[in-house]
Amino acid sequence: MNTVPDGVRLQQDSRQLKAAEWLLNAKSTTGIRSPHFWIISLLMAGLGYVYYGVLPAFHDVYIILFFYPLLYAAIVFCLKGVTVTWVVFLGLLLPHVFLFSSDPYSLARSLLFAAFAFLISGLFAAQLNYLQSQVESCSEIVALNEELTDSIQRLENTQNQLVQSVKLNALGHLAASIAHEINNPLSGALLYTKLVSKKVGSDSFDKGEAVANLSKIESAISHCCNLVRGLLDFARQSAPNLRPVATTEILNNTLALVGHEAQMKRIQVVRDELPSLPPVMADPDQIQQVLLNLTINAIQAMSEGGKLTLRTSIEENGMVAISVQDTGCGIPPENLERLFTPFFTTKEKGRGVGLGLAVSYGIVERHGGKIEVQSEVGKGSTFTVRLPAVKEAMQPG
Ligand code: ADP
Repeated sequence: MNTVPDGVRLQQDSRQLKAAEWLLNAKSTTGIRSPHFWIISLLMAGLGYVYYGVLPAFHDVYIILFFYPLLYAAIVFCLKGVTVTWVVFLGLLLPHVFLFSSDPYSLARSLLFAAFAFLISGLFAAQLNYLQSQVESCSEIVALNEELTDSIQRLENTQNQLVQSVKLNALGHLAASIAHEINNPLSGALLYTKLVSKKVGSDSFDKGEAVANLSKIESAISHCCNLVRGLLDFARQSAPNLRPVATTEILNNTLALVGHEAQMKRIQVVRDELPSLPPVMADPDQIQQVLLNLTINAIQAMSEGGKLTLRTSIEENGMVAISVQDTGCGIPPENLERLFTPFFTTKEKGRGVGLGLAVSYGIVERHGGKIEVQSEVGKGSTFTVRLPAVKEAMQPG
């Protein structure tokens, strides 16, 4: 194969470009200010002198000498040059042939030369016009490209600002939610503490009433503790300690913790696992936390009993999917997009703080995985966790 080194090709390209530029620049200077006009005129005068003064015969043949300056004109003045070629040729040729030699052969020869000159100069001119249009469209493309780069840059800046403002908004929302969630039980605890301390010193002190109030204080404070624990989990963002783990092992451990509760609530547990599934790269404790949260939610969604299916499969992109499916109440569409937001809960006070899915989402993301939900009200929900499989385990042999 004939290969031209890149450097040599670049040099050739730049030479061609320079030649094209020279021709186009030459074309842009017109009239008597153009050096080409004077070069052409001098050539015509010189050749005219040679033609009439030096050469004695065969003028119809030597007329081709004039072809060269006119070709030059065609190149630098393009189509205008072609017209000039044609007019000057015929202006010189026809009178000359009619005046000096009325020989029909020499007339035919001269006309043939004229046609040849017209054709060649026309081709040059057309080629040059094409070259110019190419150069023009090239510079137009370059300008458009620059404009596009500018717009992309502006768009990126706007997007960054938008992301920043969305982050700030989310942060503000989170701070307000935390304040609200912690303030309510604390205010209650404060109120009951004041009440108890007021009653302790008074004659109307009732031991039973004091115990009831103290238990309310206890439950308010334990709710706060739960909230803070959940928040710590959410904020800790600890990097997972990844190792190959068999999904069966994670599911076994999960069911060991919630299986009894499922049984109590008349929930049938089904395991639909793909045999010989490759292990996943995961932190077993963290993924266990995710699956525990998903199964507890599923069980709580089936207050009237139902079926809990734990399914595993492998996907084409090398991800292992673990899904937790229930036949519970389902999730209304308007709640679906808020599920993973901190403090989103529909559970009654004391049963949920709305951090389980937010924490799970963070854990799965840090594993390089994805968590998705599909749900239909009245029919049930399926939460699917996708985790990267161990690559070596997937290779045959
Ligand atoms: P919590 O369980 O403390 O409410 P989560 O973040 O785990 O917090 O769940 C948030 C909300 O998502 C729940 O209150 C519930 O409304 C909804 N949810 C989660 N899982 C299910 C499910 N399997 N079926 C129906 N609703 C669910």
